[in-house]
Parts: sequence; structure tokens; C-alpha cells
Amino acid sequence: MSSASFHSLGCRLNQTEAAVLAGAFKEQGYEVVEWGTPADVVVINTCSVTERGEAACRSAIRQALRRRADAFVVVTGCYAQVGLEALRAIDGIDMIVGTEYKHKFPAFIGEPRKMDEPVVLHSNLIDDSDFEVPGTGLYHTTRANLKVQDGCDFFCSFCIIPFTRGRERSRKLPDLLREARELARGGYKEIVLTGVNIGRYRFEETSFDGMVGKLENIDGIERIRITSIEPTTIETALIERMARSDKLCHYLHVPVQSAEARVLEQMNRRYTPEEYREFIEMVLALVPDVGLGTDVIVGFPGETDALFEKTYRFLESLPFAYFHVFSYSKRYGTKASRLEEPVSSAVIKERSRALRELSAAKRKAFAERYVGRSVEVLFEQQNEHGWWTGLTDNYIRVGVASAEPLKNEVRSVTIREVDDELARGVIGAQTVGRLPSPVSEARARSHS
Ligand code: SF4
Repeated sequence: MSSASFHSLGCRLNQTEAAVLAGAFKEQGYEVVEWGTPADVVVINTCSVTERGEAACRSAIRQALRRRADAFVVVTGCYAQVGLEALRAIDGIDMIVGTEYKHKFPAFIGEPRKMDEPVVLHSNLIDDSDFEVPGTGLYHTTRANLKVQDGCDFFCSFCIIPFTRGRERSRKLPDLLREARELARGGYKEIVLTGVNIGRYRFEETSFDGMVGKLENIDGIERIRITSIEPTTIETALIERMARSDKLCHYLHVPVQSAEARVLEQMNRRYTPEEYREFIEMVLALVPDVGLGTDVIVGFPGETDALFEKTYRFLESLPFAYFHVFSYSKRYGTKASRLEEPVSSAVIKERSRALRELSAAKRKAFAERYVGRSVEVLFEQQNEHGWWTGLTDNYIRVGVASAEPLKNEVRSVTIREVDDELARGVIGAQTVGRLPSPVSEARARSHS
């Protein structure tokens, strides 16, 4: 039996697509092995969102070639779409697959044999019709991703994604419901909806909110989580659904990118800081325990100290649970790549550090609101210190000491204390005594 391994860089959508490809290879009779295990076929799903991301892709390809020189190496994803020439320069790649052929290439491999020159499946025109995703994703985690949408028409001035993934298109509703049912049958309790600009989902008369409503009706799915969603695409009906639903997680990741009006305009974002604040206030009024995350870019051209300070104060003033901080990276072909007034890398580094510190403090403050309270946790794994960890529906990472395996179990946990890493608690509504440590639990087990 031939073996195949998959590595995905960049966003959650890339991970989703790699899982679907792994499912397709399994269907074709391959043994799917973990990344790092030498395999007959190696698939690297690349990212092109920053220069650093592209460098990481080249390094992953070289690593795979060093691991096993005779492996059949396939490179797909956003870098394969826009970095064809750079990839052709790397010896040993057997197939380069652009966006258009990403879900189709497993059928073309046949008997994998090393090539003298890479086979290139690539088109500058990316089909903008609706699409189906073949098969079902193969995940090693307790949460499964579900791709609902691809591409983007927003053309934010810094972003390469509309060029790498093409125009926006939605997955056919019956097809995504089919995969969701199969995932539920496979035992996944949480489904994470993924795409590029998922709020723009539309299939015939069904909007994003309508699609979420259909997913709620599937037996076996206990949680539906929305990943990153653009603020201007969120229907009030969706937030109202979140407020009343016992499946739709109280969680939203809404990229702000900057909170300074002039920078937002230059970024071609579709809201002002005031509109963004009003939106967040509406969400908080309807779903007070919502876990809120955001993305912010530092060092966009023309971002002076004073403009950055505005963004910092804005982020400080809202009850975010965390932010993801990105350093601006000039992407050839985007509108922002022609802007002047670049920000030095030393300044970008310092601003990123300040925002990451603020994010860490916010993460802790959000979790501390739950000390002494009981929360529902879907457990995923045991960490290297022996704590079983999982997430609440509003995205607090919780750890407990437990002699019983908890993978894929939902349990009530009383939160007792919070550190930089975890909200630590005990199973059930125990509110007195000291937290047991996983080490003493393990000792107790070995003496019993
Ligand atoms: S909304 Fe803007 S940042 Fe997001 S994928 Fe589209 S162009 Fe890129």
C-alpha cells in the first residue's frame, strides 16, 4: 500500500483543504501518515499571504525532499498559484498545482513516479462558479472544519488572496450538508465553518445565516463555530440566532486590521472605526458572554506613531478576548504595494510586541471572568504536562487533571484559576479545596 502525508501552511481554510485531500487519497487506497513520517507521496499546501509565509513553504518543501529523496512531491495552494517561477527553481518537485486544480489533482497521480520536470496544473483563470468539495475531510482532532465558501471580491489593498484564490463562490448547500452529516457520523462534535469571506455565503435563496440554521438541524453536531468573518457581512439575524442557539458557539473573530479612519480607507476596508465599534456593541448587547477575537495589521504604509496609538487605544477599549497581530508584508500586484511611507521593520517589531502583550492581558482578563463559575468544555487532548485541555464555546482554553480519558467528551468544569496558558478547573461543580495537579493524580493512580 502506498503512503501519503500532508502539510498545510497558513490559514484554517488551507488545513481544511489538506484534510479533504487526505480523505481523497485514503479513498484511493493510500495509507495517510503523519507529516514527518517518510511517505511515497508528499503534499504541501502552501500560503502566500506574507513573504515570511512563502519562505516557510520553500523550507517545508526542502525538508520533505531531504526526508525522502524519492518521494513524489506535490506543491499546491496559494504560493503554487502566484509563485510558479520560484517553485520551478526548486529541484525535486514533481507536481505544481494551482488553485483551479486543487481538489482535482489526486485523480491525475496514478502510479507516483519521480519526474525530471514538474507537471504543472495551473490556470490564471480561476473558475468562479459554485463548487463541490469531493469526499469528506480526514481530521486527527476532535473538531472538524467544513469549507463553505472560497475566494473574495473585496480586494482589500494589502491582500493577495483575491489573486491567489479568485472571485467569491459558495459551496452548494446539499453538498456541504452531506459532508456535515458524514462528519457527525464520524463522531466529530464540533464543526468549524471555514472559507475566505464566509459571511458572503449564498446558495440560491439561502444566506449564511440560513445555512447555519440548516446545520443546526443535523443530529450529532453539538457545536457550530464560525471562524473569521468580515464585520460588514454579518447579518443581525445571525447574532440573534447565536443568542438563542444551543449549538452556535458564542464566538466571533471579526478582523479590524486597523482602527484609524485614514489607514482603513487606504486599506480599502468597508467600515469606519465608529461603525466597527457600533457593530461590536450590538453583538455584546445580544450575546454578553461572546468570545471576541480580531486581526490587526501593524506597519501598514503611512502608519505613524500617532495613528498606531489610535489603534492601540481602540483595541484596549473593547472587551476582546485576544487578537492576532500581523506585520504588514508588501505583496506584489496589490494596490498597497504602490503606497509610499513604508514603516521600518524595527518599528513594526516594537508595535507588534506592544499589541501582543495587550492581547495576552486581554485573554487572561476574559478567562478570569469565569473563575468560580461552571463552563461546558469539549475536551481535545492531554498536554505535555498531563492536563486534559479543551475549549468552551466562547473559546476559553480550559485544563483539568483527570484520571479518565476525556478526548471528545463534553464536561462541566468549574474554573478555579487562570494563568498565561490555561483556565484551570475541576470537573463538575466543585468549588472548595486545592486544584489537584496532573502529577499527583498520576501518582495516585500508580499507587491504587
Ligand atoms: S476581505 Fe479583504 S483581507 Fe479578507 S480575503 Fe478579502 S481581500 Fe483579503
